[in-house]
Amino acid sequence: MSRIVMAAAIRGARAFVEEAEAKFAEAMESKGGDAPIAFPDTAFQLPMIHALMGLEVTRLGQLKAVLAHCRELVPAEPTEHLWLPYLGDGLDAGVATMLALEVTCAIRYLHNEPIEEGFNGFITDTILRELGIQLVDGRMPGFAAILGPAPTEEIAVHVIRELQKRSILIFLMDNRDGLSMKDQLDAQKVEMGWETYIVPVGRDIQSSIYVLNWAMRSALTFGGHRRGEWAKCLKYTKARIFAFGITFGPIPDPWYAVGAGAIVMGFPVISDHPSTPEVRPSGVTTFESLVRQTDPEQIVPTCISVRGVRVKVEEVDIPVSYSPAFEGERVRKEDMHVQFGGKYSKAVELLESVELDEITDGQITVEGKDIDTIEEGGALDLGIHVLVAGRKMRKDFEGIFERQFHRWCNGAMGFMHTGQRELIWCRVSKQAYASGFRLEHIGTILHAKLHDEFGGLVDKVACRVTTEAAGVQALLDHAVPVNKARDDRVAGMTDESVDTFYSCTLCQSFAPNHVCVITPERLGLCGAYNWLDGQAAYEINPTGPNQPIVRGRCIDERTGEWDNVNQFVYKHSNRTIERFSAYSLLENPMTSCGCFECIVAIVPEANGVMVVNREYTGPTPIGMPFSTLAGSVGGGAQTPGFVGVGRLYLLSKKFIRAEGGLARLVWMPKGLKEALRDRLEKRAAEEGLEGLMDKIGDETVATTGEELVEFLTKVEHPAMAMAMMF
Ligand code: SF4
Repeated sequence: MSRIVMAAAIRGARAFVEEAEAKFAEAMESKGGDAPIAFPDTAFQLPMIHALMGLEVTRLGQLKAVLAHCRELVPAEPTEHLWLPYLGDGLDAGVATMLALEVTCAIRYLHNEPIEEGFNGFITDTILRELGIQLVDGRMPGFAAILGPAPTEEIAVHVIRELQKRSILIFLMDNRDGLSMKDQLDAQKVEMGWETYIVPVGRDIQSSIYVLNWAMRSALTFGGHRRGEWAKCLKYTKARIFAFGITFGPIPDPWYAVGAGAIVMGFPVISDHPSTPEVRPSGVTTFESLVRQTDPEQIVPTCISVRGVRVKVEEVDIPVSYSPAFEGERVRKEDMHVQFGGKYSKAVELLESVELDEITDGQITVEGKDIDTIEEGGALDLGIHVLVAGRKMRKDFEGIFERQFHRWCNGAMGFMHTGQRELIWCRVSKQAYASGFRLEHIGTILHAKLHDEFGGLVDKVACRVTTEAAGVQALLDHAVPVNKARDDRVAGMTDESVDTFYSCTLCQSFAPNHVCVITPERLGLCGAYNWLDGQAAYEINPTGPNQPIVRGRCIDERTGEWDNVNQFVYKHSNRTIERFSAYSLLENPMTSCGCFECIVAIVPEANGVMVVNREYTGPTPIGMPFSTLAGSVGGGAQTPGFVGVGRLYLLSKKFIRAEGGLARLVWMPKGLKEALRDRLEKRAAEEGLEGLMDKIGDETVATTGEELVEFLTKVEHPAMAMAMMF
């Protein structure tokens, strides 16, 4: 801890102890040692003393021992020339401050000193029961204790609104030259009270103990810790109460002393003043202890980040209803105002993580035409680029967060989102458009939901939505290698190298019986979730849609069937799918939702299979284009002979292994073939199928079954010589 900070905290603590001693001596004289002493409506007498010293103080005279302990705790002030490890002394000064302040304020109640109108004073156990539970279970993300007035009323209102927006409870204490932040908010007609989450506690610094001992009671009440279990109580407040202090202006000694107390409890302090020295080492607090942030705009984001507050944005502030109930809603062509992607235009979405100082939380920008500038029924290119930052954010979470866009966007009534990555297709209904839904609201949804569901990992979210052709193309060019790198992470892993697979039931909002079983060698059929994503997603949300499946006893190695996997799929497919094979197209294949990148379909006359990808809209040898096939394969059904897959599954050694694997691949659109050519050639060579790529038909050589058989015979495709598929 900085020598300047510690010296100030010690001076402040000493002054508080002296004040408490004087008040105590005067009260002993006037009331006597047997005078009852208590705060109103609490079961914990003087809570800080109860928790830290284990004393049940009910009589004035008992405070003598508390003050003696305070004296022991207050260390000598460091001299200019003596360099010591300061942290322990600084924290002792903080503890002495909290104990001494509790003595002083308890004596105030003994004397029935009135609480100034508009201020709260001691915070009762009733309030603790009402709000404390929200604090510890995360519904209320945290609380802010603000010392002093802001430099201007505008800054005061701005900071307060930013905290309110995040549902953070605010306590106001102390004044500077008589002016408190409460006065500033009164002047700006800001409504205060428990209902608005703004609670003026007291006009002086002593009243800060009411906030600290309120927080301490959470450890006693909800943490179940007993009096005197000081280490457990402090650990609890650090881990469970996401509180922080904000100071405005130069910090006087008493504030440093109170701040040291807050730090003991794990609550960092953020100062707006350039003269404040920072205390950056973490340990006592989760991250830094004392941080300077001189930009008023950045004060609240800094607090969120320094305390690691899990922010909740309660409402998705868009002009249409928002609820998971709309997730399965479709926007039909005749109800549509505008669409993006699919076969009508280019559309891409991407989420990436950046450093905390690179983005501003809540910044949403729209580039290009908005949807009110195009004719009803039209199509626009669309690029959605979301940047997130957070101290606990990891690169391998990016794909997981991005895959939630589908579910989150669909929560908006009249906005339909399907697909993923560079293959999204979205529609806005006429009704949503008429209600005022515009492109910026995509950003509003993603900002709110990222904070809501991943607030523990994400501190800041910024979103850019573009419809400019060049901007969309640039994002596409950027996204392709990013996604390839995500896919490549799992390369080299085999199913045999793990005993646990992961489920994904994210798409059950559209296909209630669908379960993806993700193995190292078979990614989710949307192509956006591989085994490592499933593992990381489970780590983030252990009760979420990605659950580990310890595969258990192998029933059939050839088809990839295990007893535990069967049980899991049965249970999670609403008891509709009894058996599941990971490596077979014909025997109990995986169900298909609607998000698949490609469909694998049997071509009986060619003794093989074709693969058709979503982007290909032309004819196929089985007489159905992708859209018709998708209609009959999707919806969560198990359809032997047809299965939705992620395109990278074609490169897997487990690709329809039960039916003979890659050698069965007889037709695929040229675009897909070229996109995968190098990697498919390598895989074919591994199987001893050199030259296979040139033997696989495409739309340039065959669009009917007969044409395909003729071609395959001519090039001597290996499938023609294989055993009959059935
Ligand atoms: S397609 Fe499968 S892996 Fe992808 S999001 Fe849906 S359920 Fe999850």
